[in-house]
Amino acid sequence: MDTDVALVLAGAVGLVLGALVTFVWRYDEGRQAMPAPAPAPLVPPGADAVLTALSSSAVVVDSADQVRQSSAPAVAMGIVREDRLHPDHLVELVHQVRRDGRVREADVEVPVRRSAPLHVRARVAPLTSQLVLVLAEDRTQAQRLETIRRDFVANVSHELKTPVGAITLLAEAVGEAADDPEAVARFARRMSAEAERLTRLVQQIIELSRLQHDVLSDDASAIKVDELVARACEHSATEAEAKQITVCQRLEPDLHVLGDHAELHAAVSNLVENAVTYSPERSKVAVSAARRGDDVAITVADHGVGIPADEQERIFERFYRVDPARARATGGTGLGLSIVKHVAASNGGSVEVWSEPGVGSTFTLTLPAFDPDTEEEK
Ligand code: ADP
Repeated sequence: MDTDVALVLAGAVGLVLGALVTFVWRYDEGRQAMPAPAPAPLVPPGADAVLTALSSSAVVVDSADQVRQSSAPAVAMGIVREDRLHPDHLVELVHQVRRDGRVREADVEVPVRRSAPLHVRARVAPLTSQLVLVLAEDRTQAQRLETIRRDFVANVSHELKTPVGAITLLAEAVGEAADDPEAVARFARRMSAEAERLTRLVQQIIELSRLQHDVLSDDASAIKVDELVARACEHSATEAEAKQITVCQRLEPDLHVLGDHAELHAAVSNLVENAVTYSPERSKVAVSAARRGDDVAITVADHGVGIPADEQERIFERFYRVDPARARATGGTGLGLSIVKHVAASNGGSVEVWSEPGVGSTFTLTLPAFDPDTEEEK
């Protein structure tokens, strides 16, 4: 009897074990047949390669506001910091897009450490059910240029109105003084002075806008500095003679610079002309040129009225005049030095001023020296 029970028990245990082994085996087989539940790819295949290659700023943000993918420019721009999107305004835009799936565009200011904020145009669009794509374009430079252009147009219109208005009034005066030949002659002289001023203004405006479009001059040739200075002095010879101003030249021999001849002539002429204009009668203006390391420094020094320290930065701005009343008398347009500054920059150089009111001013135009024998910039 005991043996029977034992046999039955053993059989039952065997059965249960067999069933268990079969079950476990089958279960394992089943598990092996089923593909492992891989994590769903967040960024769609191919999209990451595109984003990495993009030269513009692109960021993919997941449902937890974590940055999943970003192009290098996005990080450089500062809209991605430690896997988070910045600034908050951009994050808010992402939330709105996630809520209703509508593409949005907005202008966002991105703070930059120790500098002015960037002006960024952002376009935010849903990418998948979980991901949102942010495309950003840095508009800082474009906005700055637009402001400069707007100011320039406003200034030009204002500056043109003055001589045109004067000519109109003088023409009326001539008409009314028809029977007074002396008055007619006087008005005619003033008319021609205003017309001259207008011509000069228009020429300088054209020159300046041309220079602003040319970032780097492409018309460069080797220029003899002594000839450049001689022509610039000649340009102001009549005015200097009228004021009995001596313009002397102290030039190191064989100096050359590489640049656009017409532009450099305009720049040096403007400096000499200013020195003569803002100097008293019977004074001296010295123009010198010397090597300074790899550069040539062209210096124009006068013993004129000088420029107050707080105005010295501003005189290079377009239409800026220290004394507008005096400028009207001298026919100054306020454009001369901004032309000099542009010419210097587009020919790889710079311009600096030293000045003291009542003592005089020294302007230094520095340009890369050039050796015509080796045909190389020194
Ligand atoms: P402008 O046509 O009025 O001379 P510029 O741009 O050449 O215009 O110069 C801007 C201002 O800088 C002038 O109005 C003048 O007040 C000042 N300035 C320029 N050069 C001299 C100088 N050599 N001495 C004194 N003031 C100067």
